[in-house]
Amino acid sequence: MTIQWFPGHMTKARRQIQEKLKLIDLVIELIDARLPLSSRNPMIDEILQGKPRMIVMNKADLADPAVSQEWIVYFKEQGHAALQVDAQTGTGIKDIPVQAKLLLKEKIDRQLAKGINPRAIRALIVGIPNVGKSTLINRMAGRNIAATGDRPGVTKAQQWIKIGEIELLDTPGILWPKFEDQNVGYRLAVTGAIKEEILNVEDVAFFGVKYLVQYYWDTMAERYGLTEKPQDIENPNEIVEVMEAVGRKRGCIVSGGHVDLEKASLVILRDLRAGKLGRLTLESPY
Ligand code: GDP
Repeated sequence: MTIQWFPGHMTKARRQIQEKLKLIDLVIELIDARLPLSSRNPMIDEILQGKPRMIVMNKADLADPAVSQEWIVYFKEQGHAALQVDAQTGTGIKDIPVQAKLLLKEKIDRQLAKGINPRAIRALIVGIPNVGKSTLINRMAGRNIAATGDRPGVTKAQQWIKIGEIELLDTPGILWPKFEDQNVGYRLAVTGAIKEEILNVEDVAFFGVKYLVQYYWDTMAERYGLTEKPQDIENPNEIVEVMEAVGRKRGCIVSGGHVDLEKASLVILRDLRAGKLGRLTLESPY
């Protein structure tokens, strides 16, 4: 479900997270490894008020591993703990409690020095819709706790889920993306984080294909049997020709033999989101 964010909703979401900050030691900021910038909330630093934070790049199974590695270095240089996971299979999630302990080591050591036995580290997961918050909570808990997908209006008592030495709030904090920037909107739509109906599906596919031509041509050419790589990616006609070539290969034809560009766009977006065009990342740190 796509949440429509209005200023009132943002204020409420922000307040809800800030109330939860009082209860926790650490924030797990969940982002999409394919879009490490566009899948972040634009006001995250301000909202978290200096709480220790771990950046967890989810859906790493769909992202370009080399670029993910660059992002991890980048986030670490910014002073954050950063790691990549695949919440669906659980790959990498064992590292979360380990990193959490490292991040809070000084605080824990101080307590130990004073003879205080530190309690479990309490953590909250925050992130924009569809980034995988519920999937991660369920995977970490080893059972179904959080309903996947967002269900606004469903409130229930908060509970702590004990995972080894950390305790996780069972309801994640939901934040809005930075959709004021049109390119951010396109990147989110390409990966399926927001429904493409909000934008024009052909425009979304165009945006994706242009990026693929530039950075991931070989995988796309192989998948669709394309032979002619556009010479000038800034020429929209050349990108549309690629989309039409895919349409012809996939039988997206309307009467008169023309390519149904909308259908071709849907084919491309479906393949891209399912990882059929290879592992790819739409933003690079350098
Ligand atoms: P939430 O809105 O942040 O709670 O997101 P969900 O947990 O509902 O996940 C959104 C979609 O992403 C679902 O279809 C999940 O199956 C999928 N998903 C979540 N984590 C991963 C992952 O690591 N890899 C892949 N491929 N898909 C994932």
